[in-house]
Amino acid sequence: MIVVEVDLRKFQSTWAGISDAVIVSSPQGPILLATEKSWVGLPEKAALARRSAPSAIERAIQATQDWTALPADAYVRGKAVMRQELLVPFRGWNMVLFTTYGGIRQRVNAVLALEIMGFSIFLALAFYQLSRQTLMRALFFQQESDDLRQLNIRLQREISERQKVEKNLQVAEQTLAQSSKLAALGEMSAAVSHELNQPLAAMKTYLAGAKLLLQRKRLDEAFSSFQRIDDLIGRMSAITRQLKSYARKGGEDLVPLDVRLALNGALAIMEPQLKLRQISLSKTMPSSPVMILGDQLRFEQVVVNLLRNALDATSTVVSPEIELFLLGGETATLTVRDNGDGISDLDNLFEPFFTTKKPGDGVGLGLAISSGIINDLGGRLVARNSDAAGAVFEVTLPILNNEKSEI
Ligand code: ADP
Repeated sequence: MIVVEVDLRKFQSTWAGISDAVIVSSPQGPILLATEKSWVGLPEKAALARRSAPSAIERAIQATQDWTALPADAYVRGKAVMRQELLVPFRGWNMVLFTTYGGIRQRVNAVLALEIMGFSIFLALAFYQLSRQTLMRALFFQQESDDLRQLNIRLQREISERQKVEKNLQVAEQTLAQSSKLAALGEMSAAVSHELNQPLAAMKTYLAGAKLLLQRKRLDEAFSSFQRIDDLIGRMSAITRQLKSYARKGGEDLVPLDVRLALNGALAIMEPQLKLRQISLSKTMPSSPVMILGDQLRFEQVVVNLLRNALDATSTVVSPEIELFLLGGETATLTVRDNGDGISDLDNLFEPFFTTKKPGDGVGLGLAISSGIINDLGGRLVARNSDAAGAVFEVTLPILNNEKSEI
């Protein structure tokens, strides 16, 4: 037989701190080990009774202080304790732990305090993050609105600068238009007075000659002088007629006008001259009106000038042809084409008093005045030589919008 002696006292000292009191006892037997050294050898009940349990009065006071608590399992050193029993897998020994409610409460409170603290820290962090985000967003919006405000200011400054430049430009344009009008007027008056002075001087000479011839009874010669004077008067009236048609400015007189009617009107005016010649005249125009905002008489004047030039240009051609082609659409386009000799000087064509015709046949005002009229109507008159033969004149005018053209 072997006897083993174990010193269990070390356990006793290490248990201290786990619970308020710990005992180990054999089943139904006395206490073998205990944190209260005086309990060893006693049965559990006797050990617990050793230290006086609270008196009835003390228990009543405790109960009223802590009325929510359940009845205490036992009392150690006069304090209500919770009893926990564990079975030790050695010879059926029991281990009983006594823990005061105060200790448990302290621990629970500590855990609760920890949890509350954790939760508070979490809340604080969350609030901090949220407020940081809000602050960042507010800063971002402020920055953005500042940028926008700056942009707005810059735009406004730019707009006002542009408006100023535009106003300056308008003033400059008006000045230029006025000075170019004055320049044109000066040029025109110089050219007109020169053109009119020439026949006037010639007429004076012819009249003086005719007077002498009459005095000498040379009637035939005097008659031819009168004839020359008559021609000169004709030339002068041609000049004044052209100028008159141009001078009849009519910005306010512009009315919706069907170009087809004006074209037919011009052909009617030219009919006597056309009939005198063996000429093939073709006319192509749309079946629906080609509406512009214009003045019929002045537009007819343009077409008459173009037709007269075409007639002159084809005077030496074997089979003369004139083509009129009218097109509506985005713009009203009238093309006058002939198979004459073509234009010899395209650069000076529209210059006032530029003519290649013999004196008496042309004064060189037709195209200058025609392009002036077309410009006044907001269009343009251009000329070119055709690839085949002859000249092509093209009048382009802004079309009148549909609602007005239906009137
Ligand atoms: P005018 O007919 O009195 O000479 P215009 O201004 O009408 O004055 O014409 C100026 C010049 O342009 C003409 O002298 C002529 O040389 C040229 N011209 C005009 N129309 C034509 C044409 N259809 N073909 C060739 N040349 C032309």
